[in-house]
Order: sequence, then C-alpha cells, then structure tokens
Amino acid sequence: MKTITILGATGSVGRSTLDLVEREPDAFQVLALTAHRDVTKLAEAAIRTKAKRAVVADEACLGALRDALAGTGIAAAGGAQAVHDTAELGADLTMGAIVGCAGLEPVLAAIDQGRTVIIANKEPLVSAGDVVLAAAAKSGATLLPADSEHNAIFQCFDVARPGRVRRIILTASGGPFRDWSLDQMRGVSVEQAVAHPNWSMGAKISVDSATMMNKGLELIEAARLFPVPHDAIEIILHRQSVIHSMVEYVDGSTLAQLGPPDMRVPIASCLAWPDRMATPMAPLDLVKIGRLDFEAPNSVRFPALRLAREALDAGGARPAILNAANEIAVAAFLDRRIGFLEIAAIVEDTLTRYDPPAPGALADVLAVDAEARVIARERVKDCVA
Ligand code: NAD
Ligand code: MG
Repeated sequence: MKTITILGATGSVGRSTLDLVEREPDAFQVLALTAHRDVTKLAEAAIRTKAKRAVVADEACLGALRDALAGTGIAAAGGAQAVHDTAELGADLTMGAIVGCAGLEPVLAAIDQGRTVIIANKEPLVSAGDVVLAAAAKSGATLLPADSEHNAIFQCFDVARPGRVRRIILTASGGPFRDWSLDQMRGVSVEQAVAHPNWSMGAKISVDSATMMNKGLELIEAARLFPVPHDAIEIILHRQSVIHSMVEYVDGSTLAQLGPPDMRVPIASCLAWPDRMATPMAPLDLVKIGRLDFEAPNSVRFPALRLAREALDAGGARPAILNAANEIAVAAFLDRRIGFLEIAAIVEDTLTRYDPPAPGALADVLAVDAEARVIARERVKDCVA
C-alpha cells in the first residue's frame, strides 16, 4: 500500500490519475488532493477516495470547501501555503499535475521530502530545471516523467549507458493546425485551438499543442531529464500519436514506446514503477491503425519550435522567460484578448526585450518569471489597443 498526494487533482491529468488510483484501492491510499478553485470536484474526489486532506489554492474558496466536507472527517485547508504544506507531508508518491509555474514551489516541497515525485507539470522543469534537479539530487527523490513523450523516453533510455544514445526522437502530433497555413491560423478561435485531434487535455496545454509551444517546452523538458547534448534531441511530426517517442543508440537500434493516446498509460507506468499495473485501455490495434506517418516539423508556421530551441541553447534565464511569456499570452488568448498568432509573437517580443543574467537560486528564477510576466502583459495590452 502506497500513500499518494495529487497536486492538481481536478484537472485532466489529476482525474486520469484518480481513475487509476480508484481502480486499485488495495494498492493506493490517498493522503491529500489539491485544486485551484474547483471545490465541487475536489470535495467529491476527496470523499470518494477517503482522502485525509483536501486543499484549495485559492483561499477565498476555503469556506465552500469546508461546507462541502462538513461531517466527512476530511481536513480542509486553503491558500498557497497550505498547498505547500500538503506537498511536504511526504506521501510515498506525489503527482505534480498543477498547470504552469504555479506548480513549481509545491513540487519542490514534495521533492525535498526525498520520496517519489511524478512530474506531469512540465513548466517548472522548463523554467527552473537546475533548481528542480538540484533539489532532487540533494534529497534523493526519484523523479518519474508522466508527460507521454518523456515517459516513453524514460522507458527506452538505458540510464547506465547514456553515452551510447545517439538521438532522442521526440514525436509531435502537430496539433489541430498541423496542415494549416499561417494565414488560415490567423483567425482561429479558442474553440478550434482547444480541440486537439488526438488527446483530451486541459485548456492551456491544448493551446500549447496548437501553437506547438508544447513540443518546444517538451524539448527543454527532455534536455533537463535526459543526459544527452541538446542537438541530439530531434522533434518529428507523427500525426497518429501511437509512438510516443524513441531513443536511438549508436549501434543503429531505435527503441520506441507505443500506446493509445490516453494519459492513463504513462501515468500508470509511473504509479507502478518499477512494476507494471493493469489499465482499462483496449490494447493497440495496429492492423486497424494500419500505418504510421512521420514528417519534419515546420518552424516557420510554428515559430514556437524555433523560440524554444533558441531558449534551450542560450540557457540561463531564456527558458524561464519563454515559459512565463507563453503562460501570459495563452491566458490572454483563452480570454479572447489576443489572436492565435500573437501568442508566439508576444513570447518572441518578451525574449527580445528582457535579457537578465542567468538565475541561480529559486528566488532568482521566481524574479525572472515575475518580470517576464509584467513585460508580456504590457505586450498583450499593446495587441489589444
Ligand atoms: P488542467 O488545467 O486540466 O488542470 C490543472 C490542475 O491544476 C487543476 O486541478 C487546477 O485546479 C490546478 N491549478 C490550476 N492553477 C492552479 C494554481 N494557480 N495553484 C494551484 N493549483 C492550480 O491541466 P492538465 O491538462 O491536467 O495539465 C496539468 C499539467 O500536466 C500541465 O503542466 C500540463 O502541461 C501537463 N501535462 C498534461 C497532459 C494532459 O494530457 N492533460 C499531458 C502531459 C502533460
Ligand atoms: Mg506531452
């Protein structure tokens, strides 16, 4: 029996994690669940799983959470500090499934406990990769990647022989606009952008997939997680999302992980690691799938790919600025304040306007993140004006 805390339990990854955990009541005991503001879903999940504690990050929602949990014996808490304290309870497994850099400090608090932390929340690794990895090295925590591509690489990567890896091939579905011209993309609506052809996900990552910034963030995430040179990580378009990524070795062998496009597959691999657990997914029907296609990605139509590659190569504060500006721009797009193509333009502009020295400690990263958000918000205002 393992205890588990899910940070971001009401989101897409959080709910997929709960689905698996609830199927195996003898294997997992829920310690705590957190959410931003979604009191109803959080309370329902806490009651169903007999969690010890439920936490809303927005303190204004604490009263409603207390009401929803009255008489259940489940402790209710609210505020960013409460999320932090909950991560510090040190469950055997912590799932990091908050969206954006809001997940950075809670995930660090979990890492500091030296247990196993499953990372779906990729933005902290992009913005504060060195800080996160140093914290894990110090505490001895095990980080398991749940992002489907990184989980695929993790399953194929021979950690004992990183020098024998020639290439990591990161696959990308290309999102809903993979065949669209720049002109066609100019006028896309929020509804079109969040309708991913292969995966069902939260709004932010769905927009990131549509701009392909998601693959850019994943490129940086892969560079943080796997010890290979940056130019050994290649992005390839694979529209069926059946192969979730590959590792090529010097001898010419390429190992791939295949599976249905359902996050429960990589999440299950993390929950049970190094063992395996059953999932309810139907086995892959390769005959029905019939063919697997591969194409080169297009960084003219998807400038986010170029921006992320440049940020990774330049290092220092660049990935944190890229991520912060993107979070602001995506939120503005979801609010219908800017157009789709303005997302990457705002990210590029923020990177041009702001070039601070490389951050060292967590406080430096948070300062860069905050300043980049201020600059990106100014650019959003310019776009709206
Ligand atoms: P989502 O928007 O569906 O859920 C986000 C969760 O975080 C919710 O529980 C929400 O209440 C909580 N949250 C939001 N803002 C918060 C804040 N400021 N403080 C505390 N909690 C907050 O997102 P998602 O699609 O589940 O994605 C979560 C993370 O996993 C993202 O970083 C995403 O890139 C990554 N990821 C998602 C998928 C997927 O299939 N959805 C796949 C791979 C990686
Ligand atoms: Mg992914």
